[in-house]
Amino acid sequence: MKTSTSSKPTTKRWRRYIKSAFFPKDFPAGGVPEIAIIGRSNAGKSSLVNAWTGTSDAKVSQAPGKTRLLNFYDMGSYRLVDMPGYGYASRGKGEVQDYKKIVESYFAVRSEVVCLVLIMDIRRPWSEDEEMLRIYSNSIDRPMVVVASKIDKVNQSEKHSLLKALEKALQGTPYYLISSTTGKGVESLEESLHQNYVLPFIERQKNEKSEF
Ligand code: GDP
Repeated sequence: MKTSTSSKPTTKRWRRYIKSAFFPKDFPAGGVPEIAIIGRSNAGKSSLVNAWTGTSDAKVSQAPGKTRLLNFYDMGSYRLVDMPGYGYASRGKGEVQDYKKIVESYFAVRSEVVCLVLIMDIRRPWSEDEEMLRIYSNSIDRPMVVVASKIDKVNQSEKHSLLKALEKALQGTPYYLISSTTGKGVESLEESLHQNYVLPFIERQKNEKSEF
């Protein structure tokens, strides 16, 4: 496993899809910081994962059967974990239970999750589902950031009023604006998360090792 303590994330050359898994026993070995990406179906999660990893694997993983799995990507110094899309209204009780199970079992065994990225279409209002996830991330003591996607779809004045409403709902939760189509904001999102969450984790790991 390649690790890097440079403040810049590794180049895309190192990035690759590792595997998809449902049960913790099938997850890749731990010890590497992970950024978990979660979002409503159609929010633009696969497109962001593709833009971030420089692959087109997330689209492939949307094939039936893989949509309810966790998809792990090796990003060099950290991993991206693409979580299944949610949209409770259209799902049966069994599916909602399955969804909760996979999300909760992942967080229960992964102390390496350095941050939870909640992606939403900038044009959609913050809903009960997003609020539940924010409460959940607080309850498990993991930082959450929000990514408002598809900013290329709105004009300046729409953006202004949408952001005003979003900021009110977010109550201080950090947020980023991106367009996976144009690439705008994707690199600075990664740099910021790498700096604020990945590097401190790697530093803590080093310090813990040196204490022994
Ligand atoms: P997912 O279901 O959350 O994985 O969403 P997808 O990544 O599959 O995106 C859903 C739809 O939104 C697709 O038609 C994408 O092409 C489109 N989309 C995703 N991100 C963007 C974006 O930043 N800009 C625009 N214009 N379209 C986007």
